[in-house]
Amino acid sequence: MIVKHDISQLWLHIPEEIPQKLDRILDAAPESKVFFRADDVAAPGKNMSRMLEVFRTNSMPLCMAVVPAWLHEMRWQELRTAAGNSNLWCWHQHGWRHQNHQTRGKKGEFGDERTSAVKKKDLARGREKLESIMGDAFEPFFTPPWNRFDADTGKALKQLGYTAVSRSAGELKKVPLPEGLADLFINVDLHTRNEPTPKEGWDALFNELEAALATGRCGLMLHHQRANDAAFAFLDLFMKKMAGHKHLQPVTFRDL
Ligand SMILES: [Zn+2]
Repeated sequence: MIVKHDISQLWLHIPEEIPQKLDRILDAAPESKVFFRADDVAAPGKNMSRMLEVFRTNSMPLCMAVVPAWLHEMRWQELRTAAGNSNLWCWHQHGWRHQNHQTRGKKGEFGDERTSAVKKKDLARGREKLESIMGDAFEPFFTPPWNRFDADTGKALKQLGYTAVSRSAGELKKVPLPEGLADLFINVDLHTRNEPTPKEGWDALFNELEAALATGRCGLMLHHQRANDAAFAFLDLFMKKMAGHKHLQPVTFRDL
């Protein structure tokens, strides 16, 4: 699997003032829809179970982006047992095998260095695999690895019947989508931040959060493999604070 396990600087420690800062930001936010999207899902494990536990105990929905090539029947049974059959979850597709095919520029599995036909084939086989293993639990949403794809991929996704994609905020301007394919972008990155110091990491995270909430729609991206005790504690804190702020409505891709 091509997954980094580095811990971002901010998760080395939660500063004392963070809960109050979070309160201030949530208090100041307008009515907003909030969703969580977890990437690189497929393998059960300690962090996966921990993530599910935090969401379940807070009755908070989670959109899970599953890498088709990494999933098999036994893994799915384990995930399903750990998660339970619940409306809280939105299981959907995360690329095909999470492989970078770009030799220049930013990484991408569905970038401009492969033909449309090859990319479409990967999309279709990924979806077929997930549908055959997950059955009705699979939902036709697509989160691309590295949060980006090219215009051909957008067209192929539309042709293959996907209803929405989830990339980074700002991608829509770079690669517009065909009509009818919704853009459910994330605008807050929790676990793959790369600011050089904890202070800069916290400042950047809170700036992102504030800006996202100001738009009335906040999508938080999770990478459970890169979460540690502090990261899980913050997730739990965030959800408990959210529960006290009724103007913040938890949703999944289905509600957007
Ligand atoms: Zn990923």
